[in-house]
Amino acid sequence: MISDVVRKTYTPTIGIECHVQLKTITKLFAAVGNDARDAAPNTLVSHICLGMPGALPVLNKKAVEYAMRVAFGLNVAPQKYSYFERKHYFYPDLPKGYQISQLSQPIILGGSVNLELNDKHKVVRINRVQLEEDAGKNTHPQGKNYSLVDLNRAGTPLLEVVSEPDIHSPAEAKAYARELWLLMRYADVSDADMFHGNMRFDVNVSVNKDPNLLGLRTETKNLNSFRAVEKAVEYEIKRQIELIEKGQIIVQETRGWDDAKQKTFSQRSKEEAHDYRYMPDPDIPPVVLDDYVVESVRKSMPVMPIEWRRRLAGLGLDRLVIETLIDAQAETPEANYLPFIEENLAEVAFSKFIVNHIVNTIDPIRKETSRTASNWDMYLKDIYDLQHTNKLSSTNAKALLVTLLSSGALPKDLAKYAEEQGFIQVSDEGEIAHIVSKVIKTNPKAADDIKNGEEKAVGFLVGQVMQNSRGKANPALAQELIKKQLDV
Ligand code: MN
Repeated sequence: MISDVVRKTYTPTIGIECHVQLKTITKLFAAVGNDARDAAPNTLVSHICLGMPGALPVLNKKAVEYAMRVAFGLNVAPQKYSYFERKHYFYPDLPKGYQISQLSQPIILGGSVNLELNDKHKVVRINRVQLEEDAGKNTHPQGKNYSLVDLNRAGTPLLEVVSEPDIHSPAEAKAYARELWLLMRYADVSDADMFHGNMRFDVNVSVNKDPNLLGLRTETKNLNSFRAVEKAVEYEIKRQIELIEKGQIIVQETRGWDDAKQKTFSQRSKEEAHDYRYMPDPDIPPVVLDDYVVESVRKSMPVMPIEWRRRLAGLGLDRLVIETLIDAQAETPEANYLPFIEENLAEVAFSKFIVNHIVNTIDPIRKETSRTASNWDMYLKDIYDLQHTNKLSSTNAKALLVTLLSSGALPKDLAKYAEEQGFIQVSDEGEIAHIVSKVIKTNPKAADDIKNGEEKAVGFLVGQVMQNSRGKANPALAQELIKKQLDV
């Protein structure tokens, strides 16, 4: 174990590569279905996926459009000229003997990702993003003397996003992974379903005592959750420092992540660079983007998280509340949480009321039922008005909203509906005075305390009045009447 003191003498440096699966209907170069989640093995294949001699790939236009969207999401324009190359290697899940990728002229060069950490804002620069095809999948059944190859995934479009080594802690690595996920969801280019491997992260980690020098790095591959990214980086930093402190050397190698053991493990050493014999793919013409095409994609971009944070900041919300909203919008874009808040930004108090109920009422229901009620925003203004004219307590405002969302009711007259459902606050003085006198009689000790100037006891009796009225008494009026009846 290394101490914090020793650890602080080292600077960790982390670069992250992320493969993002694009949600095109068909594959990158073949008119074959791209969603393999429920497909039987080798049913989404064609002569192109199988690499039959003479098969001619045709580039999917939508994949190029998605790449352009990601470029703008990364705050950079796509390259007007890019082309595809063949990256040669032999593996059973790659029948062609090469992967179609981009090396010399990728579709995106440069760009940046903006991170919000607890205490600071951070920019991670992007080196490049290349458009490429995925390979198939090998499985090795236990105890059998054969392996299985499924080519459903062969030819699925991927964007490989390569960061600069600008990341320096496990927390930053995790924040970067989440921000990329947000970006893909907001740009609407990928389902970004981590569970199904739509985003896979490879982390390059090194440590050095001199912050201006880079140590030998390891690459831990195929991490598929933000937590795994954070934990794998954390583990590698500790492991490498321990080795150096013991006078041993770091081996430059590829490692895997064992999620059950929360450990990285050696997969293969990377002593020499592979010779992939890259060459331009003669079957696919270069991609040349016209200005008007690039411009129309730029204009179609939605508001991205960095801009939402800026717009929401005006409401003076807690950072965590803002991030909860940003996540909720990413998870259910069709609910349009953020646009609805924005429509009402001019009314600050009402906007805060909306935010409060999205975070504490509406989004928790969505998470529980895995769906968003279509009427989530219809009655917020009415409920707000009822609460602020003292017809609804804040507790009953929430209860009324929950009832509306879970029943799917669409009442024409909300005040009437709230009345019928028993949520409307009683502000009838006679009725409350009656409950107050009853409560004072049954709580003589609290009544005495109030007479002796104990303010806390007033709160207690108001609570009793609320209970006796099943939450419907106007608490301000109840308090007034308690004091009046006790002569204080
Ligand atoms: Mn790749």
